[in-house]
Amino acid sequence: MPTEADPILATELTKDEYARLAAESTFVLPVGILEEHGPHLPLGTDTFQVEAVVNEAAEATDAVVLPTMNYGNCHSTQPFPGSISLPFDTVRTLAEEILRELARHDVASVAIVSGHAGGGHMRALKQAGRDVLGDHPQMRIALLSEWDVLFPLGGETLNGETVPEADGHAGTMETARIRHLRPELVDDSPPGEHFPQEEGFELASEPDEGMPKGYMGDPSRATPELGEGLHDAAVEALKELFDDLAPEGEPGL
Ligand SMILES: [Zn+2]
Repeated sequence: MPTEADPILATELTKDEYARLAAESTFVLPVGILEEHGPHLPLGTDTFQVEAVVNEAAEATDAVVLPTMNYGNCHSTQPFPGSISLPFDTVRTLAEEILRELARHDVASVAIVSGHAGGGHMRALKQAGRDVLGDHPQMRIALLSEWDVLFPLGGETLNGETVPEADGHAGTMETARIRHLRPELVDDSPPGEHFPQEEGFELASEPDEGMPKGYMGDPSRATPELGEGLHDAAVEALKELFDDLAPEGEPGL
């Protein structure tokens, strides 16, 4: 079990502390989702992952962590029980209005870090960021999903374990990460290798055609050691990003 990080949480600040930090610190908006993750992982998988890495990286860099935006948009997993998918425009508007409020508070830098990497979901967040930057060009906004950092590590060795080169939703990597973070929530015998047919250019009539079992990859080879290695790699990348985004001066309370 990883140690609990103790970052600066916006929910615990007074208005005056918040106002001072707005000009000095990177503010982080974690984005989670309630989404099916195969027969073996909990619905909060993406939220558990992103909150763990954000909190640890924020503690190390004195970034301020905003409350998680904990609903998003998913397509291929939407037909399954437990997936709550908000429409593209709802996700875009929600993110945009949060960013507009941060701009009104003169927050200088914002990192939006999503645990969920769905295509429509990420495009909605990107559009929100671009629209706000159009009106507030002095603001700095970064957007990434953890998987932008982790998927390129395929083939590398982390914490003594090889990162799979082919993997996907609720596959080896996500199963490994929940084995590391919340082992009590992972099914004891996760399913084996399953790579659904590659989608061609033709659009599927059923959203889950590309994900009929609700997962992709090989959850059975996931180890907590790999999960810890992936977690640490994501934390290192976020520490660098939060530091780069921080306005001049001394962040922190
Ligand atoms: Zn996920």
